[in-house]
Amino acid sequence: MNKLHLSGIAAAALLVAGTAHAQQTFISIGTGGVTGVYYPAGGAICRLVNRDRSEHGIRCGVESTGGSIFNINALRSGELEFGVAQSDWQYHAFNGTSRFEEDGAFEGLRAVFSLHPEPFTVVARADAGITSFEDLEGKRVNIGNPGSGQRGTMEVVMNAMGWDMNTFSVVSELQAGEQAQALCDNNIDAIVYTVGHPSGAIQEATTACDTVLVNVDNDVIRALVEERDYYRMATIPGGMYRGTDEDVTTFGVGATFVTSADVPEEVVFQVTRAIFENLDMFRSLHPALGALDAAEMVSDGLSAPLHDGAARYFTEAGLME
Ligand code: GLU
Repeated sequence: MNKLHLSGIAAAALLVAGTAHAQQTFISIGTGGVTGVYYPAGGAICRLVNRDRSEHGIRCGVESTGGSIFNINALRSGELEFGVAQSDWQYHAFNGTSRFEEDGAFEGLRAVFSLHPEPFTVVARADAGITSFEDLEGKRVNIGNPGSGQRGTMEVVMNAMGWDMNTFSVVSELQAGEQAQALCDNNIDAIVYTVGHPSGAIQEATTACDTVLVNVDNDVIRALVEERDYYRMATIPGGMYRGTDEDVTTFGVGATFVTSADVPEEVVFQVTRAIFENLDMFRSLHPALGALDAAEMVSDGLSAPLHDGAARYFTEAGLME
């Protein structure tokens, strides 16, 4: 990867000469479906990075992808420089467990910072007779596309519940961005999505037809949360979406921003700096980012080592010892 870091004066001189953009570093961020939160969050990151492009020469772009597991695999192959990933899949990728057992530990995975909470969200058609998670038995359920975080997490939950593909009358593997319409077209009874709130996809599913968000709270779920550091109980506030006035209790993970040890320190430093120096603006760019807190962002849900560039920024900014 080409990297050119210019001092302010040198950059100004080059700008006059019209060659400041001759050498640039391109970075791509892997996100998720366009109606999720990863995609707009990635867009917000790029917007802040690109504002200072004349100083650091980094050009940031966003890609809509299949989600967490796809993004981590793309970091590993060098296809992407950054990605957003659920905290449970960051953990498993770095440790070579669960879905990552076959490929082995991704030792070059690096954490940059954490983002918003992501409750495991189940939305059902109001006419499907589903009032709790257990009611999904025998129903038509979208369990998510392979490569998405929710698909991986749903498989872990199904395993713990003693469920398999035959538990449901129909299993679909639609992409996150397609599931709201499939629900409202009555092709399925329920969808699962591990996503920040509010999100476009859940807004679509709750306004385009009559639906309800259901609790995902039973002894099996409580035991999973108890056993694993990367899960916690979570609440989706009542009144956030049409049709669901009461708080919804479920479990959740956190969204995290990750990269590879192969990405140069200066690039990760500049990306981290762009977000933390403009945190108020970053929070205002999507409602699901509104409650982000700098102290939590440097540690929450990060199980891979911090990238050296992020660690350097956090130390310089006094956010880390
Ligand atoms: N958590 C989902 C995943 O890992 C993506 C959510 C989003 O796009 O906001 O695939």
